[in-house]
Amino acid sequence: MHRLSRERLQAPRRDEGGWRVVAGWPCASWPSDGVAAESARDAARPGAFWHTLVHGVRPASVLRPPGRDRRPGPMTTADPAVASTVLERYEAVIGIEVHCQLRTASKMFCRCSTDYEGAPPNSHVCPVCLGLPGALPVINRRAVEHVLTTGLAIDATIPPATRWDRKNYFYPDLPKGYQISQYDLPLASSGRLAFETSAGPVSVGITRAHLEEDTAKLIHTTGSDGQKVSLVDFNRSGAPLMEIVTDPDVRTAEQARRYAEELQALLRSIGASDADMERGQMRVEANVSLRPRGAEAFGTRVEVKNMNSFRSVERAIAFEIERQAAALDAGERLVQETRGWHEDRGATYRMRVKESSDDYRYFPEPDLPPLHLDPGWLDELRSRLPELPAARRERYRSRFGLSAYDASVIVGNRNAETLLETLIAAAIGAKEAANWVSGEYLRLLRKYGEGDVPHLRAEDLGVELASLVGLVASGQITRTNAKEVFETHFTSGESTAAIIESRGLRQISDRSTVTAAVDAVLASNPAAVADVRAGRAQAIGFLVGQVMKATRGQANASVVQAAIRERLDAGEEV
Ligand SMILES: [Zn+2]
Repeated sequence: MHRLSRERLQAPRRDEGGWRVVAGWPCASWPSDGVAAESARDAARPGAFWHTLVHGVRPASVLRPPGRDRRPGPMTTADPAVASTVLERYEAVIGIEVHCQLRTASKMFCRCSTDYEGAPPNSHVCPVCLGLPGALPVINRRAVEHVLTTGLAIDATIPPATRWDRKNYFYPDLPKGYQISQYDLPLASSGRLAFETSAGPVSVGITRAHLEEDTAKLIHTTGSDGQKVSLVDFNRSGAPLMEIVTDPDVRTAEQARRYAEELQALLRSIGASDADMERGQMRVEANVSLRPRGAEAFGTRVEVKNMNSFRSVERAIAFEIERQAAALDAGERLVQETRGWHEDRGATYRMRVKESSDDYRYFPEPDLPPLHLDPGWLDELRSRLPELPAARRERYRSRFGLSAYDASVIVGNRNAETLLETLIAAAIGAKEAANWVSGEYLRLLRKYGEGDVPHLRAEDLGVELASLVGLVASGQITRTNAKEVFETHFTSGESTAAIIESRGLRQISDRSTVTAAVDAVLASNPAAVADVRAGRAQAIGFLVGQVMKATRGQANASVVQAAIRERLDAGEEV
């Protein structure tokens, strides 16, 4: 955002569709989030902005929604040769900002439900979240508790009292012309989050975590008359949002990704947010700059947005480090700018250049009283803190003997944690239980998604899976068939016992049945039989596979193998 210059203040007034507009004013209160103007000059172009509001026409170069940029600027491709040596010469200085939607039943300052996903547009609104004049906000206690709990979980300092501030800017998704946020008294500050990376443990300082309200959602489309229109859906307007900002402590793209993953696991474990990146419940932005190794001063900072997955976070930052290094090596001067990540092209692109720092003219929110944070309230929240992800991973490793990998993929997914603990409580070995959870259960979740279906409740799933694993252990069903039964149960909810019965999947260990199947396979595969006799041991695997196929996977593989060897060793003609 740009301070109002004398010229702008004195810019000629201009009539647009009956509105009196001060040219240049939109630029003066332009937000850092939400606008992707090519430059301040574009944004200030008289009339361009107001068309959007008055006629619903969107000049493509001026208004673009965050994260949905359809007209990327020129790509910059880094020299691949730079990659290996970049971090020897330069140190990356990265700070991460995360916005996450808090898990509450109602919005931040009104009673509208936050359960608006899939709802018709503008069906979850009231005078408060529509920003109508005279409507007064009321603080959502649960939202405050989520931020305080997050603060306690990251060892942050909680002030004895806090207050709300108005962050002033104008944008069509912000009907009041200001966002209620927190400025110099955040609910939590000076925290810390530790996590594992491939190069060892890392701890990142957290500058602050504060509470604010979300904006409405803009949808840019073409109207029935073929004109471009911008539609506003206020369902999200006023939803509680927590912003968590790190110190510039992050040094690599991998650290940035691991930090975001750890934060997601933490937020889920304390129930503050579902923090699903793909559903926009957790939005990650990074400030990336480079400085020569050994230098103290920070380099020019570039803000990277539009990273919609953990993988994107890592790729985008890695790309940006190489891009900046290549520019610095070529003697170019970097500019302070905002760049978007283009997933398909694997590159960042310029969204807009920042010529000066933002000035939102924060001032205390007059419609809300300061909030006193009673120590008793904090003690109560502290006593309700669950086991945090780092402690849980450590317990899984030390008490259950899980590998670091298994512990890391299971912890952070509440259902996977419950499933694992249900299996272990049912006397299934920890390693076996972990294999089913990290291998099969998480695979099915990726394949089918996590529906809100009763039979998919982790406790119920655990009971079914425990009996299935028991059948595998006692040799009554093969592991392959057990996986198939589990998948059918996962998708249909039918009991595992019924699935086994209806498909006739009980394992055949009976010798005569197995021998008959073996004889048939040996008779029809003389070439493989000759191979085995000639000493090519791998051919026996083929024969076992054929018998398994003939018995629909029901034969006990070790019984089959023994029967084949017995037949061939006996030198019988087949
Ligand atoms: Zn409302």
